[in-house]
Amino acid sequence: MSDLINSKTAIYLVILILFFVILILVATIGALLYVFTKGQKNLALGPVFDSKNEVEDVQNRASCFFHENSFSQGLCAICEKSLCENCVKANDKLIFCPEHYITFLNNTWLKLETIKTTPETPLEGIVLYSFKQDIWQKKQTPTYLVTHYTINVENDLIESYVTLFVRQQDLENLKEKFLSTKPLSH
Ligand SMILES: [Zn+2]
Ligand SMILES: [Zn+2]
Repeated sequence: MSDLINSKTAIYLVILILFFVILILVATIGALLYVFTKGQKNLALGPVFDSKNEVEDVQNRASCFFHENSFSQGLCAICEKSLCENCVKANDKLIFCPEHYITFLNNTWLKLETIKTTPETPLEGIVLYSFKQDIWQKKQTPTYLVTHYTINVENDLIESYVTLFVRQQDLENLKEKFLSTKPLSH
């Protein structure tokens, strides 16, 4: 009889333990669901913040000069306007806006000056760049720069050669102008 009571008690105990286990499981699942749905709410908010950042990105990132809703893919080598993928006209090394691509194709371009820069003299090329900007801003004279990199095997330095190209008809005039504005370094 006592054996029977003991076994009955044991069964009750097992049922009780199972009941508690199920209770804990349900509570855990409930808690997990709560956290999950809350997390999902946060996730739902996430993209809102992200798109806010994207809006800021759009504002920070340059847009096309011609299409303010399109991202800039690069600058025209002549006028330096930002260009989207629809506006970019390219030859193998340079990109141009539609107008200056025609300018590029319709003219003979000659080298005005090449300046070599090395890691020790990285700013040498700026002389050419500021000259280019100056004549563009003052006279809308189209010119473009080409940078060519080489590795000097002897001393393992990366050297760059910055060359300013000008239209054939501008060469003499600009050469004179460049020599007169160029600071005499040697
Ligand atoms: Zn242009
Ligand atoms: Zn565009």
